[in-house]
Parts: sequence; structure tokens; C-alpha cells
Amino acid sequence: MMTKEELLKLAIAARTHSYSVYSHFAVGAAILTKDGQVFEGANVENSSYPCSMCAERNALYNAYMHGYHRDDFAMMAVAADTAEPVSPCGMCRQVISELYPKDKPILLTNLKGDVKETNAQELLPFAFDGSDL
Ligand code: ZN
Repeated sequence: MMTKEELLKLAIAARTHSYSVYSHFAVGAAILTKDGQVFEGANVENSSYPCSMCAERNALYNAYMHGYHRDDFAMMAVAADTAEPVSPCGMCRQVISELYPKDKPILLTNLKGDVKETNAQELLPFAFDGSDL
């Protein structure tokens, strides 16, 4: 099984696919499945800013497009060049809370090697979900 350190490296490497010509803030994400597959994502911006998509959601949607779902995931890593380990935005926290397991590790890092380990429950407590509809 892939180690946390290896998944963090893949998240950092995924930043090279970022299209962040406006913010110059490249983010990478990598999701490990229980059967050993890795799905990556990077942020992709647009001149119409709200059209932009985050690395975390691109990685999750990438995995779903390959037939993987919440219970198939083992670990996720997110990386950016931030002072502290990168913090997922609110929209990503909402999507993570529905598409990623509540209790599996989410590793947040920066380029200095600081790592914060959290999970979906910690990132978005009292989340809105399908049972609220
Ligand atoms: Zn986001």
C-alpha cells in the first residue's frame, strides 16, 4: 500500500497540471483508492472566475468518472505553496463531505513539508447532506 509520504508527493506533482494563470496559486490533489489506484487533480481557472474548479474536486470527480465512489477511497492529499498546510475552500469541504468517507485521512501540506492530517468530519462538521432534503 502506498504511504502517506508517497501520496503527498503525488499531490505536489499534480500541481504541474494546474491552469492558474490568474491567481498563480497552483494546487494539486491525489486520492488513493483501497485497491491501489491514484486519481489526481489540479485547479483549473477561467477568465470568468466562477467557472474555475479546485484541485480537490477535480480529483474526486476524476475518480468518480472512473467508477470509484466514497467507500472505495483510502486516503487523500492536497498540496499548495502556502505558509501553513493548505486549507480546502468551503465548496470543496461540502463536496468532500458527500463524496469522500467521513473518517478517512485527508492530508494537507505545503511545499515546506508541513503536514496536517484531518478528515471530512473535521473539515465540515454539521454538514448539509442528502438527509436534509
Ligand atoms: Zn476548493
